[in-house]
Amino acid sequence: MPIDPRLPYDANNIFAKILRDELPCSKVYEDEHALAFNDIRPQAPVHVLVIPRGPYVSWDDFTAKAEDAEIAGFMRAVGNVTRQLELDGPGYRLMVNMGRAGHQEVPHLHVHIFGGREFFQMIVD
Ligand code: AMP
Repeated sequence: MPIDPRLPYDANNIFAKILRDELPCSKVYEDEHALAFNDIRPQAPVHVLVIPRGPYVSWDDFTAKAEDAEIAGFMRAVGNVTRQLELDGPGYRLMVNMGRAGHQEVPHLHVHIFGGREFFQMIVD
């Protein structure tokens, strides 16, 4: 079920619990701004999620409310993850789902990193 991105941040969402180490994850990368882990239902040979440490519901919430340093740190972290995964040579796809139309399911901002193959179609429903 897609979320309503206008709702307040839910501190009990699944990614908040992963950030607090209350739930396990297959960790790929972490720094002061971000945590990255393998998606539990991978849609590509490489499918990693990068999340900010701060409590942001969505891309909209993050870009409206986060400090510049958090935004810069998070963007840098996404780049660090792609290079750590050695995707910078072959290339990759980034995706952020936002709200109902984007079919966002987890109410904590996450960037999907897809790699390990070519993605020919821009959007597949
Ligand atoms: P979205 O539709 O953009 O909100 O995507 C949510 C993503 O989170 C999906 O690709 C799920 O497979 C993934 N996901 C949900 N729960 C977990 C979890 N516990 N660990 C890793 N990935 C998860």
